Amino acid sequence: MKRIINRYFAVTTCLGIFLTLLLSIVVFYDAFQKEVFQSLETYASLLDSSHIFDDKYNIEQHVDAASVRVTLIDKDGTVYYDSMAKTENMDNHLKRPEVVEAFAHGNGSDIRKSKTLEKTTFYYAMLLQNGCVLRVSKESDSIYRIFFDAFPVIALILLLIILLCMVWSHFLTKSIVEPIKQMADDMDKENTDTVTTYKELKPFVKTIRMQHENILKNARMRQEFTANVSHELKTPLTSISGYAELISTGMAGQEDVSRFAGEIYHNAQRLLTLINDIIRLSELDGNESMETLEELNLYELARNCVDMLELPAKKQNVRIRLYGNHQCMLLADRQMIEELLYNLCDNAIRYNVDGGSVEVWVEKNNLDRPVLVVKDTGIGIPEEHQSRIFERFYRVDKSRSKSKGGTGLGLAIVKHIIESLDADVELESEPGKGTKIKVTF
Ligand code: ADP
Repeated sequence: MKRIINRYFAVTTCLGIFLTLLLSIVVFYDAFQKEVFQSLETYASLLDSSHIFDDKYNIEQHVDAASVRVTLIDKDGTVYYDSMAKTENMDNHLKRPEVVEAFAHGNGSDIRKSKTLEKTTFYYAMLLQNGCVLRVSKESDSIYRIFFDAFPVIALILLLIILLCMVWSHFLTKSIVEPIKQMADDMDKENTDTVTTYKELKPFVKTIRMQHENILKNARMRQEFTANVSHELKTPLTSISGYAELISTGMAGQEDVSRFAGEIYHNAQRLLTLINDIIRLSELDGNESMETLEELNLYELARNCVDMLELPAKKQNVRIRLYGNHQCMLLADRQMIEELLYNLCDNAIRYNVDGGSVEVWVEKNNLDRPVLVVKDTGIGIPEEHQSRIFERFYRVDKSRSKSKGGTGLGLAIVKHIIESLDADVELESEPGKGTKIKVTF
């Protein structure tokens, strides 16, 4: 960035200086020409008023002006007098532009360059009372010559200015880039002054900071999740390994073997459920699951789920019932809706009380949006836990959850599904009375 700014700055200054120089030479030369013509005109007028050339056949006085040449030309172009040359050798002057102009309009002028382009001659001619044309001319250096002569000085000044600009541009770019560099260093610090140096960069800084924070948060969550997963897997595996060791070393009596095998089976099942939930979560995390949207009948899916959970509910002496609109349609991924229904109803049964009940409602709200409500008369969730139960591995009562075969991931999956469906979830719960979870699609 520094190099680019420097380069642009150098090119711009060089171009600027060069153009200014060119323009000032043109303007200066124009003014110079005007000045020369004006002095020639004054000189010619002076000569006219001195009456030296009144009688063209008898010019007595010789005009001796160092740099100005005076010529008297007759109507037919014959040169009568010339202050710098012999008139006999001079050709006819009738066709000279300034002479033509003077005969026609009273005065005329012309500029002619020498062959080498080194010199320029300025001519001014005026018609006298006696019918002749008086021409005064002056030779001077051409614009090229002037430029050429002045070139060493100009080049030196140019070089000096460029050098000065380079030093200045170096410091300027440094002062421009420095706050940006500082900003990058201070990115993770809050409220640093450098960030406000350029207000145009504020939204950019805000976005980067947000992304930065998100990355950190995600990394922390991942780390926590990995630690939790390892811990959760360790417990059943330790049990499995312990029981298997007892059996293999023959320390377990014949009557214990089948009990221990049962424990091994139970823990292995628990491991499987856990791994399945983890796989599902990582699928949802990475959007690996192939989402296929289809028109679904929410009531029918709820019916299937309630039917499937009827037996486990009965085992816990919990009654599960489904109510609502039989034609509640919904465009979504079937597996996701089934998982959502299962997890919510399963929790409502597992965290219920003996003789309790679960009500599943499928309906449409006044905005015609499908709504699912799972209401239980279970143990409820204390207020302080309510905001956290959707977190991974969060359980209100760890031992109770484990004894009921919970992994602590069910509601995390529910939350993920709800987010990807762009649905809303509301939770109402009172310990000892029950819980109501409402999902609006
Ligand atoms: P788990 O596998 O432990 O059930 P979830 O993610 O499904 O994990 O739920 C997290 C925690 O939220 C549970 O451990 C439980 O304490 C609480 N919970 C969930 N649903 C209910 C409910 N219907 N009634 C009471 N507590 C519930």
